[in-house]
Amino acid sequence: MTEPSPGLATSYRTHSAGQLRASDAGAKVRLAGWVHRRRDLGQLIFLDIRDREGITQVVVDRAERPEVHAAASRLRTEFTVRVEGEVARRLPGTENPKLPTGEIELRASGLIVLSESKTPPFPINDPDAQIDESLRLKYRYLDLRREPMRERLMLRSRLLRAISDVHHAHGFVEVETPLLIKSTPEGARDFIVPSRQQAGSVYALPQSPQQLKQLLMVAGLERYFQIAHCMRDEDSRADRGPEFTQLDLEMSFVSQDDVMSFVETMIVEVSRAVVPDRPIRQSPFPRFTYREALERFGSDKPDVRYGMELRDLGEVAAGSGFRVFDETLAQGGRVFGLAVPGMGGASRSETDALVERAKKAGAKGLVHLAVQPDGSVRSPIEKFLGAERAERLVTDAGADPGDLVLAVADRDVLAQEVLGELRVELADRLGLVTDPRELSYVWIHDFPMYQWDEENGRWDATHNPFSGVVAEDEELLVTASGDPSRPSREDPAGRARALQHDVALNGWELGGGSIRIHRRDLLARSFALMGLTAEQMRDKFGTLLEAFDYGPPPHGGIALGIDRWTALLTDQHNIREVMAFPKTGTGSDLMLGAPSPADPAQLAELGLKFVGIPRRPDADRGT
Ligand code: ASP
Repeated sequence: MTEPSPGLATSYRTHSAGQLRASDAGAKVRLAGWVHRRRDLGQLIFLDIRDREGITQVVVDRAERPEVHAAASRLRTEFTVRVEGEVARRLPGTENPKLPTGEIELRASGLIVLSESKTPPFPINDPDAQIDESLRLKYRYLDLRREPMRERLMLRSRLLRAISDVHHAHGFVEVETPLLIKSTPEGARDFIVPSRQQAGSVYALPQSPQQLKQLLMVAGLERYFQIAHCMRDEDSRADRGPEFTQLDLEMSFVSQDDVMSFVETMIVEVSRAVVPDRPIRQSPFPRFTYREALERFGSDKPDVRYGMELRDLGEVAAGSGFRVFDETLAQGGRVFGLAVPGMGGASRSETDALVERAKKAGAKGLVHLAVQPDGSVRSPIEKFLGAERAERLVTDAGADPGDLVLAVADRDVLAQEVLGELRVELADRLGLVTDPRELSYVWIHDFPMYQWDEENGRWDATHNPFSGVVAEDEELLVTASGDPSRPSREDPAGRARALQHDVALNGWELGGGSIRIHRRDLLARSFALMGLTAEQMRDKFGTLLEAFDYGPPPHGGIALGIDRWTALLTDQHNIREVMAFPKTGTGSDLMLGAPSPADPAQLAELGLKFVGIPRRPDADRGT
């Protein structure tokens, strides 16, 4: 036997199945793993033995080892085996350049079956197999044996390790915070856990460790990080599930620039460590104010890997005689346009589909103008605008002959966001991203502190109720009525900007954070603007408010979504593809069968009884 290799060597194996090379020829080795494939050629049986690290071809020759051959002929895929033998170079012409071990094979002298397997419900040895996702989730432990899933989980592990290394190198302390806590509102519904010892009371699962990490700053930890599990009872999307993992961090005695600059360094170092072959498009990361991001890209998580920016068409649309434009502008709305390169020849059904798409995004309609090769404009609204104004409109939109101009007239922000969504979809359709390997990180800051909650007639934190306010906007934290309990849409508070910073990657929101309000009086004022009475404040945030009486340091931080980051680094569109055991869109764990009906004895112990359970029509639909 050769020397055991570090790593996966155990008493079962000397090497991993991804390790042996031509230079090992002649060595006596032992492998342990799964039968990936078996080819029975009569006298010779070829086995591909797979473990986490790779695949090695094993040859069993009846003439040389009849007893091993007999054992090998009973093998099926996914049996686990231990094989020993001598490493031999493959015959010239039979090497497999696709496998790192493809120059050698193992000539088996012994084989032991360690466990047998039923025929798996889907092929494990075909990385490209199209498999129903529900089946993959039900048999996740088999799905994870497949190469693509395994590779993604391995990358995720490297990501977590790099994050930990970089934080420790920069003086961060890793602290675990509890899962059974009192609600920390992050704008979503809580998952609650009934207490047995204090029947009638509940814990909340953390939507994030927000208050706890701030309390760690009051506690003097200075720099904290954690890979934190967060739970929010909301409907799933491709980039969001009920349960997710965040890199959560907080720093003391910092300005917003200090936080952004550390986070940027950390992101660059982690990216270089985990995906050294993927270029970072721009460093330092471009920074956009929220307003600029919306005006230019129609998104607060702009994808800046391509141009196709929005243009304000308000000036040329004003007084056009086209009712939609005129009325929108008169009501304080905006008209924005997007020039889509080369789509001037779009068919009626294509433009109809774009109109439908804009409506789905919330617009009342979508105007389209096709720029002809001679510069003239063809559009259903040309008769209202007149040829000259139509031409000015497409010029202002930045269009060239052959382009299609899309315009939306609507409330500010909505007009931009609708075009922003179309921009992303069309860029994808037109292949505007020239290098998909590029990582384009950007910062967005200067968010509004609050957004008006029409339904409840109050201000809501745009991001985080603890976010600080830009110093010169502090005096705006008031209502027009002078009474914080009587807010209105026109309050100066609506203009206050938060010390909030978000980071986006390739058009996905990767994370967000802020410098916090650390002054008790200001925090109470902000809470009051959000409609909280003194009693509600005490009940929901009493601990933090009280802690702020004891010398809180100025502090701030951020949280980055680990699932999203991993998905983006592995080119996945859905975070389930990078989570070991994800939930379906309706919150089910198809493998464990959770959630499941409660055991009556457990309910009795908790003093609980379910009454009037609303049945969701889509509850059984799986993903
Ligand atoms: N707690 C926030 C979140 O989960 C992040 C932060 O402000 O640090 O989004």
